[in-house]
Amino acid sequence: MGSLDGSMGEMIRLLGRRSKHNYIQIGVSSRCNHSCAMCPRTVFRDRWTSTDMTLETYGRIAENFPDVRNVYLSGWGEPLLNPHFPEMVRLAKEAGCTAGFTTNGARLEDETMGQLIDDRVDLVSLSLAGAAAPTHDSRRTGSRFNEVVEKLERLQELKKRRRSESPRVLLLFMMFSDNLGELPEAVRLAERVGAGGVVATNLDYVGHAAMDELRAFTCGEAPEGFGAEIDDAMDLAERLGVEFTAFPLGLGRARLCSEDPLNNLYVSEDGEVSPCVYLNPPMPEVPRIFCGEETVVPRTSFGNINERSLPEIWKGDKYSSFRSRLKKLAEDKSSLLPEECRTCYKAYGL
Ligand code: SF4
Repeated sequence: MGSLDGSMGEMIRLLGRRSKHNYIQIGVSSRCNHSCAMCPRTVFRDRWTSTDMTLETYGRIAENFPDVRNVYLSGWGEPLLNPHFPEMVRLAKEAGCTAGFTTNGARLEDETMGQLIDDRVDLVSLSLAGAAAPTHDSRRTGSRFNEVVEKLERLQELKKRRRSESPRVLLLFMMFSDNLGELPEAVRLAERVGAGGVVATNLDYVGHAAMDELRAFTCGEAPEGFGAEIDDAMDLAERLGVEFTAFPLGLGRARLCSEDPLNNLYVSEDGEVSPCVYLNPPMPEVPRIFCGEETVVPRTSFGNINERSLPEIWKGDKYSSFRSRLKKLAEDKSSLLPEECRTCYKAYGL
């Protein structure tokens, strides 16, 4: 899953390349082989559309790759379930873009890993819900922590054998109220399996009370010592030479979010173009719980790539006006967020 598992902005910073559109995030599949407790696909199963992006839709996006440097092939599902995934990677790499994706690791078989190395995929981010089997397995239903670790070790071995630095591996550790103590262990794991870094992420999309109970961050004042495990993990990471980034555990003031919708965009499996993945899950609308308040925002699209070109959609009045609001906010802190962003945790730095 893409956005549940980390900020695209952070991943692109790690990929380290820029262009006209800094990155396009692409939801290549909204299907999944797991049923994670914190995933909207699990919680809203009755209204979720599980589908793969077609090569035709992807081709419409790929026409724009000369103006894009980073392509991130992950939305709300498991990207390796899309049978066209290798072809999609190939099109991005041939156009000179970097290519990365987030995976639960279940489909990382030897053949797939070999292909990722051959295709010089730049970044593979592995989703973790803890750094011990009981924690991870209880939240990521269907995933086995020990198997994920074996896959990571195997990928490291294959890269060594083929003398390849790529793909770079990143561990995305989702912080819950009860797993922060495992953060240092995640850093040790990263060192052991040759991962370049650990990103400690928040459950930044909360749409249901069952999800709200899991989040680590607080909307109010943080108690003394809250989040001390992050400092421990950071110290350890420095000693071990592992890159470590953690998102804050408390709300900041409204700002331009790390998805950077002024430069980046998201295209869903069915071709709908949005400023970010958070506004475009495969559901008719987006339920949210924001600091205890239940609300619903419409699924937001500024056009479908199967009907209009990307430049036409990007320059459309409504999309331009959305970006103008955000630009004003970035320049003048007193400006208000667009309505769609006001109840999004990403807008407050999480
Ligand atoms: S703040 Fe707005 S643009 Fe940023 S992630 Fe949230 S909904 Fe998307």
